[in-house]
Amino acid sequence: MIEEYKALLKSRLSDYRYTHSVCVAQSAVELAEKYGADKEKALVAGLLHDITKEADRQEHFALFEESGMKLSELECRNPKLWHAMSGSAYLKVKLGITDTEVLDAVRYHTTARADMTLLDKVIYIADFISADRDYDDVEIVRALAKKDLDETMLYTQSYSINELLQKHSPIHPDSVAAYNNLIMQGIKYNGGEI
Ligand code: FE
Ligand code: FE
Repeated sequence: MIEEYKALLKSRLSDYRYTHSVCVAQSAVELAEKYGADKEKALVAGLLHDITKEADRQEHFALFEESGMKLSELECRNPKLWHAMSGSAYLKVKLGITDTEVLDAVRYHTTARADMTLLDKVIYIADFISADRDYDDVEIVRALAKKDLDETMLYTQSYSINELLQKHSPIHPDSVAAYNNLIMQGIKYNGGEI
């Protein structure tokens, strides 16, 4: 199955994004191993998380329709949010994946959400630390991910929300809920400046 998924990804994605997908899958499996998540699910969700990243508007909306997903106005007007939702829809309606843990991990890999499952966190963080990533704080996030998943979630959520604030972009309610949820659980980031 994995080889078929890889062939499908190759047909749908640029080389750059195909490599990203394979790297995220690799990081997801490593995190799953370390933190006791299901490695097979981590592999599938990591590999397929960006499967609709290069889809056009028409395909995104056909997938929303087919899977019965209703988008909020904020989601409709923010194309950056589409691929996580349509990716989850693709897994369900095109690939026949029924495992809700896998479907949710793909669905929430961009916004995060409150009360994330272990697999949600694994995929969200794998997307930040994969071998192909190269941004200012990547080494900080990689070190944190070796230490504690919740602390890493707080760091990466704060980082993402900060970026959105600086660009005056909308912030999805699920992202705010994820952040508040971590704070309310008493999760603290004890490292350097964000
Ligand atoms: Fe993505
Ligand atoms: Fe990604």
